[in-house]
Amino acid sequence: MLARDGVFLEDLCPKSHDRRWRGSLHLLTGRRCLYCGNPSQSIDHVKPLSRGGQSVTENCVPACLSCNGKKGDSEVLLWYRRQSFYDPRRAMALKAWMEGDLRLAQRLLVWTTPGEGERDRRLPEPDGAHQTRQATSPLWRWQMAS
Ligand SMILES: [Zn+2]
Repeated sequence: MLARDGVFLEDLCPKSHDRRWRGSLHLLTGRRCLYCGNPSQSIDHVKPLSRGGQSVTENCVPACLSCNGKKGDSEVLLWYRRQSFYDPRRAMALKAWMEGDLRLAQRLLVWTTPGEGERDRRLPEPDGAHQTRQATSPLWRWQMAS
């Protein structure tokens, strides 16, 4: 009975864990292809399984189907440098990712999409201006005086 449960759990858990893991990789790049920035629809093995690459985070990056297919078994940085969408910041992010520094990779990727990152950073500004105006309102001066 226990042995059967063990087999059952072993069959089930790696799959749900794998799904969560893949989802977390996509979230790290904002669901964007690490190479070109299009929506990521797959996970690319940086070093192909056929060349001894492993299914570990350092070797698996979110990629669109186009990049995933075009890259094939090529050496990733050589292949990437030949692409029209080559971006040195993305290449740096890729290197950081392969070295396991996902936070650095994430930061580099934010810089490649300045529109999205800057919009978030600008959000607090209108609130700050509003508070400054409130601080010089008559009520505030009255409170300071009493
Ligand atoms: Zn792509």
